[in-house]
Amino acid sequence: MLIVQKYGGSSVADKAAVQNAASRIAESFREGNKVVVVISAQGNTTDELLKYASDMNPEASERELDMILSTGEQLSAALMAITLNAMNIPAISLNAWQLGIVTTENYGNAKIEAVCSERIKEELEKGNVVIAAGFQGINKNGDITTLGRGGSDTTAVALAAALEADKCEIYTDVDGVFTADPRVVKDAVKLKSISYEEMLDYTTMGAKVLHNRSVELAKRYNVPLTVRSSFSKNEGTSVCAEGGHRVVSGIASDKNTALISITEMDNIPGAANGVFSLLAKKGISVDIILCSGTGEISFTVAKRDMKAAVETIKGSVKGKIETNDRLSKVSVIGAGLETNPGVVSSLLEAIYEENINIEMITTSEIKISLLIDKNDGERAVRAIHNKFIKR
Ligand code: ADP
Ligand code: ASP
Ligand code: MG
Repeated sequence: MLIVQKYGGSSVADKAAVQNAASRIAESFREGNKVVVVISAQGNTTDELLKYASDMNPEASERELDMILSTGEQLSAALMAITLNAMNIPAISLNAWQLGIVTTENYGNAKIEAVCSERIKEELEKGNVVIAAGFQGINKNGDITTLGRGGSDTTAVALAAALEADKCEIYTDVDGVFTADPRVVKDAVKLKSISYEEMLDYTTMGAKVLHNRSVELAKRYNVPLTVRSSFSKNEGTSVCAEGGHRVVSGIASDKNTALISITEMDNIPGAANGVFSLLAKKGISVDIILCSGTGEISFTVAKRDMKAAVETIKGSVKGKIETNDRLSKVSVIGAGLETNPGVVSSLLEAIYEENINIEMITTSEIKISLLIDKNDGERAVRAIHNKFIKR
């Protein structure tokens, strides 16, 4: 079998963790499998590298930041290769250009466009375990790019798709995908399986257990994905075409949301279109939108895009712009929401009982999202989980 395994930051955080991950890799290899391993930077290395850079220059260019950030994964990949070598396992570490990972141009949040996997295949043929530095690629300028925070998951799925791997295992610090973040909701329930679609809704709404784009790719190429713990032998969660059949599959929260409100706009046809087409041209995604029809538009963007969004609309749109980045977006996700009209009222009841104010609410067939104060986020997740999942 050809297996892709990915080990996240906490799974390689220190010597004991690296050795633990190495033994799992060695076990798969000794069973006769071809193994490609994707490694994240150790522990909080990426945050530390970012801080290191911003101490020198808070306005550091995205290109240079990517040069710095990519070193975290290169270090841990080589460290894993030499740890395996010490266990008599033939292993070789490869970085972005050796892996042939070609991405779009944009630094800091590049998308994988192609994987030229010849070198990986050659190394596997030679009998090596291939240790891939996650989170990085090369763009058309020949520069290193990174794939956005949490992007090593996407490296793993992209390699699994390119190599037509039999399995893609994501090893992390929790036992699988739960009905809510198990660090926030102590009695969250582990899911045996979840469909690509539900998982996508989950990650889009902020559940960082998997990188959003990794789920998109897994769905597109039908990559069999498992999320499991690197510290236990417990069965994980399978992410596949057919998941469970639940009204509510889980609760996600996202603190990386910012609200932008424009008031006193000209109330003329095309005003909203003007705002959103400008943002689209800049590649800024907008999530929740509220248009009052009285010259007011409010919408949310990712926090990292807030400054750019304001800059983009400031000169071109008449009106007063206000921002709020002290928010949490809490979402209830489930394929059965559409056919269960009682869900919205139960949800509002749960929030009311906690005395939490709602800034905005939006519903779709498969999710309901609330925008609330950041400090109320975890309390809201627990209250909603209590209402819908804990019985
Ligand atoms: P890694 O470093 O292995 O990539 P991450 O920190 O990126 O790990 O993702 C794992 C974390 O995701 C868990 O520690 C958990 O706190 C968080 N998480 C958020 N929502 C969920 C969920 N629904 N199920 C499991 N974990 C979740
Ligand atoms: N090291 C990167 C991060 O911390 C990528 C990853 O871990 O997936 O975001
Ligand atoms: Mg991660």
